[in-house]
Amino acid sequence: MLISLIVPIHNEQAGLARFWQAVSASLKQSGYTFEVVMVDDGSTDDSWQLISELTTADQSSFDVTAIRLSRNFGKEAAILAGLRRAGGNAAIVIDADLQHPPKLIPKMLELWDKGKIPIVEGVKHKRQHESSLKRVGATLYYRVFKLSSGLDMRGASDFKLLDRRVIDHYINLPETARYFRGLTAWMGFDSAAIEFEPPNREAGMSGWSIRNLLALARTTIISFSSLPLRIVTWLGLIGLIFSLGLTIQTLWYKWMGYAEAGFPTVILLILGMGSMILFGLGLIGEYIGEIYREVKRRPSYIVSDIHSTSDRGGNPGNEQPTDTELASLHSDDYE
Ligand code: UDP
Ligand code: MG
Repeated sequence: MLISLIVPIHNEQAGLARFWQAVSASLKQSGYTFEVVMVDDGSTDDSWQLISELTTADQSSFDVTAIRLSRNFGKEAAILAGLRRAGGNAAIVIDADLQHPPKLIPKMLELWDKGKIPIVEGVKHKRQHESSLKRVGATLYYRVFKLSSGLDMRGASDFKLLDRRVIDHYINLPETARYFRGLTAWMGFDSAAIEFEPPNREAGMSGWSIRNLLALARTTIISFSSLPLRIVTWLGLIGLIFSLGLTIQTLWYKWMGYAEAGFPTVILLILGMGSMILFGLGLIGEYIGEIYREVKRRPSYIVSDIHSTSDRGGNPGNEQPTDTELASLHSDDYE
């Protein structure tokens, strides 16, 4: 049975050699056939050189494929590119910074093979040493995500084994914006968890800035739930009931002849209503933006180069149209 190992890589030159050693050691231990698919997600350091060297070096023990994306498309895109290329009966997605211990791979394979469990996930036992701001943010995010989508993602990581069936479903999902952890949970297959304590990063730096994390939180919540929109509707309804009451009271006062100046009330109401309307509009805008991105049907990534020790041919993991498709596109232009 063939097992594919998918490794998203962004500026990891400092730790790649150590990662490769650790992975080779634990792959050789277990008795399966492996292929390793390394996806360079637009690294600006020497990561691409290093991983493409691995495809020319004599790796008799397993096949290595190096895929280069044309720019940094983000980890989700890199994982998707790797899974599209994966030819195994199962695939394991693992980080290149050794924060996902390769020594757990044999245990994952055992659960999958002997236990017939389609998804085996690495679950973070304890959060890594992070600033308290990040920790508070993460807790808040997981709460909101669970509340809005019903999926509990606390401790979830991208360190996962997926059975072929699950991979096929995943790569055939129609959406462009993807959230690997969320979607695999959403698919609902049986899963088993292996706890691990993520060690600190061996080398290099985490590619996630606060801005990226906020953007991730926004898109994942929006793509998994329309609860925020419903909250706005409810707020609007409460506002409506409140203002109906206020209208009656105001008219009554006027008819009775004791209308008061009430200027501060007017200002407060205008400010309150105005900001609620703007907030609601902004939120709707976020959803429209997401719809806009999806309807454009742009590919999640573009492959600029691909090297492999085995040229199995087949699916090159590319979403770009083939030459014939391109030709027909152009001929349509001139008709
Ligand atoms: N990564 C990637 N593209 C990116 C950012 C990260 O492919 O834009 C890779 C990175 O090389 C690593 C994995 O994704 O193998 C996890 O990244 P990182 O360690 O920065 O994330 P964290 O561990 O903080 O979640
Ligand atoms: Mg990491």
